[in-house]
Formats: sequence, structure tokens, C-alpha cells
Amino acid sequence: MAFVKRPSQPRYDVIVIGSGFAAAFFLKGFLGRAGDRARVLVLERGPRWPHARQIQARRSSPFDARNFYTRSGDPSKEWWFNLSFGGGSNCWWSNAPRFKPVDFATRTHFGVGRDWPISYTQLEPYYDQVERAMSLSGPDAPWPFPRSGAYPEPPHRFNDPEQRLKAAYPDQFFHTPCGRSRTGASGRPVCCGNGVCHLCPVDSKFTIQNSLMEPFEDPRVEIVVEAEVVGIDIAAGSAKGVVYRQAEAEQHVQADLVVVAANAMFNPLLLLRSGLSHPQLGRRLHEQVGLLAEVRLAHTDGFQGSTSVTGHGYMLYDDERRKTMAGCLIETWNVGLLRQEFGKWRKALPVRLVYEDVPDEANQVTVDPANPSRPVAHYRGHSDYTARAIARAEQDLARVMQPLDVEEIVVAKSVEPSEAHIMGTTVMGSDPRDSVVDPDCVHHQIRNLIVVGASTFPVSGPANPTLTLSAQALRVGDRLERSNG
Ligand SMILES: Cc1cc2nc3c(=O)[nH]c(=O)nc-3n(C[C@H](O)[C@H](O)[C@H](O)COP(=O)(O)OP(=O)(O)OC[C@H]3O[C@@H](n4cnc5c(N)ncnc54)[C@H](O)[C@@H]3O)c2cc1C
Repeated sequence: MAFVKRPSQPRYDVIVIGSGFAAAFFLKGFLGRAGDRARVLVLERGPRWPHARQIQARRSSPFDARNFYTRSGDPSKEWWFNLSFGGGSNCWWSNAPRFKPVDFATRTHFGVGRDWPISYTQLEPYYDQVERAMSLSGPDAPWPFPRSGAYPEPPHRFNDPEQRLKAAYPDQFFHTPCGRSRTGASGRPVCCGNGVCHLCPVDSKFTIQNSLMEPFEDPRVEIVVEAEVVGIDIAAGSAKGVVYRQAEAEQHVQADLVVVAANAMFNPLLLLRSGLSHPQLGRRLHEQVGLLAEVRLAHTDGFQGSTSVTGHGYMLYDDERRKTMAGCLIETWNVGLLRQEFGKWRKALPVRLVYEDVPDEANQVTVDPANPSRPVAHYRGHSDYTARAIARAEQDLARVMQPLDVEEIVVAKSVEPSEAHIMGTTVMGSDPRDSVVDPDCVHHQIRNLIVVGASTFPVSGPANPTLTLSAQALRVGDRLERSNG
């Protein structure tokens, strides 16, 4: 085990900031190529809370995210994340679809947003590796994106309304790929179906702590927790190391390469605090927008699925409408309030509509001048592009759910405060004038500084981002030149 109280040496080949998905998959890719003498230091701001500790405390981290950033603009907007070893893997729900090929080229296909500087095809082998590393459960049926491998675990069981949607939309409705074990083949317990996946009672969903400790246990790696990086030392156009705070004292440690993997709220904060500037740095802060609905049914019972979310509908995802309004991924659930009418308790299909948003440059992260450890998240709201699609939610659902015995559809009056999918803020691109990092996530000006995670996404589709950011971080680590330490 490579956890140490403080770094054992003054200089490392690589310092990685953060220990979530982006850090873990970057390390996995990098260590696969690096020589025996490579030395890596991981600095993680939060503590290490194993699963048992989380269950005891009934929370996945000692910290409440709301105390770690300042809100500006829309007062109802929240940003959700987890500060502890393993990052968001401790509390994520583990729904893990890929982006579709069109999501990497929205400008080309729909005339909206920007194209990514890398394509689905370039990322595909890494998607496959990440799905295997997470032992995902998923469909073996034809899928809306091309795949080179099968999911390691079979899909979860649909509920009855989902069976009917599958029959009606064989090419648009699928089992949700997820990290909640279906058979136990992953080595993790089978999902208990309790629907409290943010704090999985049986440790069934994929987390870094239960399934991806190999990069952290590698003898070339040291990890220091409760060490908050406060800046990157930059001089003469290159990164020299980092400054971190541990038990109120500031320490310096040097490195040949610095990798920032602190999520889309803190990646830009660290770059800004380190004296870097760029017209795009911190900008394009966005996430998907969630809207809850309940499809009330006349005769069919729901809730029989074998995990919390079992269906993904692509009926509103990428048709022609996406030229004028946001695409939507329809999640169908087995968790939700039962109906209040006698005898109809289970006659419902809970739905979550997940809409993409087009990044707005005014939505951005800046440094709080009163407390530079705190990002300010400026958010004036989601785009008109997204609002247009949300305005049609009721009529779209009525059309899409026609194959069911619908009695009534109830759509929430307001959108959810957060989808917990923070993106944008250090966007990638080929042109240094309009992007912060290049297509390999290397900072355009500071060539030994890498930024990984969803902060590099120039735009995002309606699908959950973590599988994509993990595949991208694995690719970045894998493509670094072979090092002999
Ligand atoms: C409740 C919830 C449910 C979710 N469900 C899903 C889902 O079903 N599907 C999906 O795709 N996504 C989901 N997500 C989103 C997912 O968790 C994130 O996309 C993912 O964690 C981002 O990975 P990351 O490695 O970039 O950042 P993180 O996982 O946030 O890791 C960043 C790490 O950096 C550390 N750090 C930050 N600043 C510093 C610093 N200055 N010094 C040192 N360390 C620092 C943090 O403590 C953290 O451990 C969910 C998120 C939440 C909160």
C-alpha cells in the first residue's frame, strides 16, 4: 500500500492532483507504459474513507460540497461533487453510457456547439478498456454506438413497462449500462436494488476503492491524503512542481510533469491560482439538465427491475430536432414514490429526462478573492436551446410513451438543482486561441502540464459523462511517451 504521511522525496517524475476517475484512469494508462524507476506522487485533498466508514457515517465523505464553492447567479443552481480519496466514485450512481459518435461532432451534424478535436473512433478502444476495468453490466443487443467488445456482465432485468418500450422501440430503447453488479462476476456483490446508490449499502457499484486500487497500490506510486494543492509552480514556461497545504503548513514538491485531475470545478481554480490566464480558462461551465416525470399507468405494474435505473431511451436523443433544441436521454427507473391511490401503488414508470446543454461562455468558474481556495461558480442558467426542449417535455413524453397504457403523465414543475455532471472550464481543442488544452489534454503553453476530466469537454451530449472522461484520461496516460523513470 502506497499511502504515506508525506512525500518521501523532493522530486517526482509525475505529480497527480486528485484521486477520482480521471486520476485513476490516467495512472492506469501511464503506469502501463512507464518504466520500473518511474516515481509518481498523488496528492488528494480529502481523507480516505473506506466503504465501512461511509456506511457508519451514512455519507460518502465528511465534507458537504456546498461549503466548498460560492454560488453566483441562479440561486437554485447547485454543483455536486465529492471530496475524498476516490472522488466521485464513492457517491456516483454508476450509470455509464458512452457518448454517441454524433456527440463528438455536434457542429458538423447539428450546427450547434463545437466539434471535439478527437473522434469517437479514437476513443473507442479506451471505452472498451474502461468498461472492462469497471466490470460494467450492459446489453448484448445492438447498441446505438459501435462497440469492439461485449459488456463484462449481462444486463439488469427490465421492469414490465420497459419490456413493452423495448418491444416498441427495439433500436432506441436499451438496458442501462451501469457499474451495479448483476451477477457478481465483477467480484462485487450483486446489486441489492435498494435504490440508494449514492451510498451503496452492499458495495456493489464500481468504486475506485473496491475495484481500481491497482494504480494506487503500484510500488511506483505514493499517495498523500488530506493534502490540498494550492498552486502549481510555474516558471520560464514550464511546471516545476506544486505547492500543497497539509495540516495548515505549505509544502513544495517538484516534478517533471504535473497532472491536474481535480474535477471541472477545481481544475480551472488551480490553473487560475497558479497565475495562468486564457480567455477560455474557467469558461463554458455546464452540465446536463434533469427533469423528473412520472408516467402513470392504467394496468401495468412497474418497479420490477433488478437495479435502480434499468432503461435508457434514445427516442429524443439525436433526431433532426437537435438542430434547434437539446437532445435528451430518457432514463427509466425502479425508484420513486409509489402512487397514492388505493390499488394503484405500483402502476407507474418513474422517468428522468436528461437534457444536454450548450455551454455559455458567461457561465464560468473564477477565484473567490476573499478565499482563493474557493471557486465561484457563475451561472446565469441553461441555454435557450435546452429550454426549448424542456418546454416540450410533456408532449414529447406523451408521444414516446404511447406504447404503454398511459393514464396520466406528471412532469415536475422545475428542473433538478444539479445533475452532478460538472463539465467545461478548461476546454480542449486544436487551436490555442480558443482552447486551454490540446487534443491530448496537454496545456497549450505549459507543455509539461496536463489537465484531465470533464473540464476538457468542449461540449457534451445528453449522456452521463464519467465513462467518457475515464476513457479520455486512460488515453492521455497511455499516449505519454514511454518513460524509464
Ligand atoms: C451523487 C452523484 C451521482 C453521480 N452519478 C453519476 C452517474 O451515475 N454517472 C456518471 O457518469 N457520473 C455520475 N456522477 C458524476 C461523477 O461522479 C463525476 O463525473 C466524476 O467523479 C468526475 O471525475 P473526476 O476524476 O474528474 O473528478 P472527481 O471524481 O470529483 O475527483 C476529483 C478529486 O480531486 C480532489 N481535489 C480537488 N481539489 C483538489 C486540490 N486542490 N488538491 C488535491 N485534491 C483535490 C477531490 O477531493 C476529488 O477527490 C455523479 C456524481 C455525484 C456527486
